[in-house]
Amino acid sequence: MTDKISHRAVMAGVATAGSLAVSGFPHIARAAAPFELPKLPYADDALAPVISANTIGFHYGRHHKGYLDAMNRMLEGNDLGKLGLEDVIKASMMNPTRVALFNNAAQVWNHTFYWNSMHPKGGGKPSGKLGEMIDKDFGGFDKFKTEFATTTIGQFASGWGWLVLDKDKLRIVRTGNADTPVAQNLKPLLTIDVWEHAYYLDYQDRRADYVNAVIDKLINWDFAAKNLG
Ligand code: MN
Repeated sequence: MTDKISHRAVMAGVATAGSLAVSGFPHIARAAAPFELPKLPYADDALAPVISANTIGFHYGRHHKGYLDAMNRMLEGNDLGKLGLEDVIKASMMNPTRVALFNNAAQVWNHTFYWNSMHPKGGGKPSGKLGEMIDKDFGGFDKFKTEFATTTIGQFASGWGWLVLDKDKLRIVRTGNADTPVAQNLKPLLTIDVWEHAYYLDYQDRRADYVNAVIDKLINWDFAAKNLG
């Protein structure tokens, strides 16, 4: 489902980051700047009507690419350009002279993860180990869904809702702007983008309708299970 060639550059840092590795992405040797924009794992109209081709066109073609281009410009002639993407994020986080680099690098990572968190035939309920952990850690799938939706919808202004593994327990967290669990020793399993550019063309101010539709119809449980490992 994912494009291994195009993920090679952008996600290599993820695959080589030890305990933070996200195994849903191909394990390929570390890469460095300039990073490539990964191909979408589906056609731009494949998520309609939940997310239109128009939204994908701007979101992937302009926003995601814009973060990537800005990051690559900042890494030109910069020692950090030798690192994989996840190491660029860690090396720039909490550094007041590298705020723009962190924001763009984290947004590149977050968006690639977001596209993979959805699938045209997604939704439904996870089975196996992931399904069992959701029952145990949230008290059932319906309670999980409510918490995932409520936490994500409740992010003030721009940001992200996440299902993460925190040591041996599943948790829902949200992050503002470009912040990412990758920088917080948490292992992401799924994400939903709640920047307005993710839904405004299709839903205007109805963020809850967008989030609930993504959870019900698009969430890629196979990807989450692979990330859980
Ligand atoms: Mn976005």
